[in-house]
Amino acid sequence: MCCRKCSGYLPPFPHFATDAIHYGQEPEQWNSWAIVPPITLSTTFKQAEPGKNRGYEYTRVGNPSRHVLEKVMSSLNGAGHREQLMGLTCLAAADGAEHCLAYSSGMAATLNICHLLKTGDTIICTDDVYAGTRALFEKIKCDYHLEVVYVDCTNIKLLEDKIKEYPTTRLVWLESPTNPTLKVIDIKACADVAHRREGVLVAVDNSFMSPYFQRPLSLGADICMCSATKYINGHCDVLMGLVSVNSDDLYKKLKSLQSNLGAVPSPFDCYMCNRGLKTLHIRMKLHFKNGLAVAKFLGDHCHVEKVIYPGLPCHPQHEVVKKQCTGVSGIMSFYIKGDKENAFAFLRNLKVFTVAYSVGGFESLAEHPATMTHASVPEEVKKRLGITDTLIRLSVGLEDLEDLLADLDQALKAAFA
Ligand SMILES: *Cc1c(COP(=O)(O)O)cnc(C)c1O
Repeated sequence: MCCRKCSGYLPPFPHFATDAIHYGQEPEQWNSWAIVPPITLSTTFKQAEPGKNRGYEYTRVGNPSRHVLEKVMSSLNGAGHREQLMGLTCLAAADGAEHCLAYSSGMAATLNICHLLKTGDTIICTDDVYAGTRALFEKIKCDYHLEVVYVDCTNIKLLEDKIKEYPTTRLVWLESPTNPTLKVIDIKACADVAHRREGVLVAVDNSFMSPYFQRPLSLGADICMCSATKYINGHCDVLMGLVSVNSDDLYKKLKSLQSNLGAVPSPFDCYMCNRGLKTLHIRMKLHFKNGLAVAKFLGDHCHVEKVIYPGLPCHPQHEVVKKQCTGVSGIMSFYIKGDKENAFAFLRNLKVFTVAYSVGGFESLAEHPATMTHASVPEEVKKRLGITDTLIRLSVGLEDLEDLLADLDQALKAAFA
């Protein structure tokens, strides 16, 4: 019964691993022919004569360590890039996109995207969204007089109605799966509806999936944002955001914002993230395998009320998942039986899982959204979304599966002892 594996999902994106490892990484671009791209710490670059340089002038505007990462990522987000393999850049490769830009955090990336808007514009945002994104949108709504409306984008009709209701709609912000209730949004259907109105940009926060499992640009989105802090770097030691786009015009605007706003990652972080990217495909396969097994285990457990994991056939949007993803990551939520006391007792008793913020690293983490990640979400919104005191979110890591299952089992039993 276990491991129907990838059956029914989109087939894996071709050449993903080769691109992640080689795209834009040619040793010949460095004087030393180094296999591993060197870390360029210099903040400034020599001019051959005033106004003439060899592609770099000042590190905020452009840096070789950042550029080599942006290149590989553009390809992994997925457009017609293969023919360019022998002459281009690695992050834009991961996203299968034409262009990629790196920022000092996921939130910095989102803020840069917001700067594409102007006073009076409307953002339509999916209702169950990363709490930091909601907090940022609420802030700019007040400070810059933007309209922000939240809608459950699993219901395309609701999205369509909202766009009609708000003719000033300029940005549709999606996240799939959502956080923490893991609703899955049909990205293509949303993009089709949104693009009926001219000038509407569709952005997707792809942090929970990574380009290995989902490529929003190939599903019709205009902008793919990823917190690389999560799966892309994957080792919980870099804070970074990435934005991929296909449009040259959008790229130019975002590129100039990247430089003007100045929220760029350090060369060392770019090196670290590029290094993490080299094993993304291997890590994601194991996150999927461990995640699916943990979800099934929890689903059968007598102390668990309900598991929400997009990889389970019982997930309400499982068909959408199979249609738009090549697999599912290791993030899931579940409702423990009992009350808040039982939830806290479970978390206190975990030994292999660590209670901490974040997701997507090699290590397994657990958290209590209502008191931790989503504490800032208004009570009535929490209630409507199902962020209750018995909801627990897991990021299943790469440890031995039997140890993860044993840990969950003993902590669940201890929570009701
Ligand atoms: C972490 C996260 C962000 C924010 O990214 P940072 O790198 O922490 O700034 C945005 N969206 C989602 C879904 C995230 O998980």
